[in-house]
Amino acid sequence: MSNKSLRPETIAAHTARSVDEATGAVVPPLYFATTYARDENYNYRAGPDYLRAGNATIVQAENTLNALEGGADTMLFASGMAAITTLFETVPQGGHVVAQDAMYYNTREWLQRLEKKGRIHLTLFKAGDLEAMQAAVQHGKTDVVWIETPSNPNWVVTDIAASADIAHAAGAVLAVDATMLGAVAAQPLKLGADYVFHSVTKYLNGHSDVLGGALVVAKATPRWDEIRYLRTKIGHPMSPFDAWLLMRGMRTLFVRYAQSSANAMAIAKHFSKHPKVERVLYPGLSSHPGHDVAKREMTGGYSGMLSMLLHSDFEGAKKFCTKLKVLIPATSLGGVESLAEHRKTVEGATSPVADNLVRFSIGIENVDDLIADIEQALNTI
Ligand code: PLP
Repeated sequence: MSNKSLRPETIAAHTARSVDEATGAVVPPLYFATTYARDENYNYRAGPDYLRAGNATIVQAENTLNALEGGADTMLFASGMAAITTLFETVPQGGHVVAQDAMYYNTREWLQRLEKKGRIHLTLFKAGDLEAMQAAVQHGKTDVVWIETPSNPNWVVTDIAASADIAHAAGAVLAVDATMLGAVAAQPLKLGADYVFHSVTKYLNGHSDVLGGALVVAKATPRWDEIRYLRTKIGHPMSPFDAWLLMRGMRTLFVRYAQSSANAMAIAKHFSKHPKVERVLYPGLSSHPGHDVAKREMTGGYSGMLSMLLHSDFEGAKKFCTKLKVLIPATSLGGVESLAEHRKTVEGATSPVADNLVRFSIGIENVDDLIADIEQALNTI
């Protein structure tokens, strides 16, 4: 049965191809070799000649994600930031990039660095505001429109289909940081995006033990060839061992994402009327400004990511994080274990993040344990 006829949960559980043809093993083999022998005609048997260009283990992980996203091709990188910086390396000298103002802070800082160096022109627009996006694009000049949805750390939702229309009408490509969507909640390429980015460090791997990034393309173009060239020349593909761990992670992706989403929804509802909580930010709540778009586009769940604005200040929100006993005070997200962090401390004084914001990555634990833990930590502030 071809992958095309299988549903995403099945593709993920079988990592695109379940049984190793050479041995019958039901988990994928792991190839470590950096170099490959030529045959009697002095040709390579299959695939790349050297690990910088990828290998069979990496390709199998790429094929799995590619099938989940419905892409034309997928490439895995040594980190999410390696994938992001490589995509922006393809913008021509002086090219125009349009991106939202509030998003993963390292992406914003990288774009601002490129702008300061005179490498690109950058216009930031208010996250989630399509009119502002429309005003920011310049017909015939804008090269890439970059959105992140839902976006760090307020979980602003951006309409992917409408963004694709705006980008395409301006002659630009739309690239979506879909880390929070986890290839489960929505497939941006099906909504019209040209590139999907994932920090696979998060939901796709799901066990907080792999650093990696992915780019998926809707249609291979010369830009895609350049990205492949850059990955080989810069030399930052994902390591085979990490690709193997990623496949191990993707096998349980759908159950993990569903459980995290259900837990997050229960927590968001429970604390939205709590006296110590000013506001819960979660796209699954009908009170969230992006809920209608999320309901339309995030058909596979609202993710495990939420934030709370506490009735407190910088120090109080930080103290709350230190008082948690089940949730772990740590950065990152998308793992099986729940994490909480004081985001302003992570992003630094210049960050636009509210002083009283705590970001939660909700995992797959028993939700009553999580609620009780958040409750007792709130009672200390
Ligand atoms: N994009 C988002 C939304 C992220 O949360 C992160 C990491 O936290 C990245 C990109 C960067 O990915 P990585 O840490 O894998 O380099």
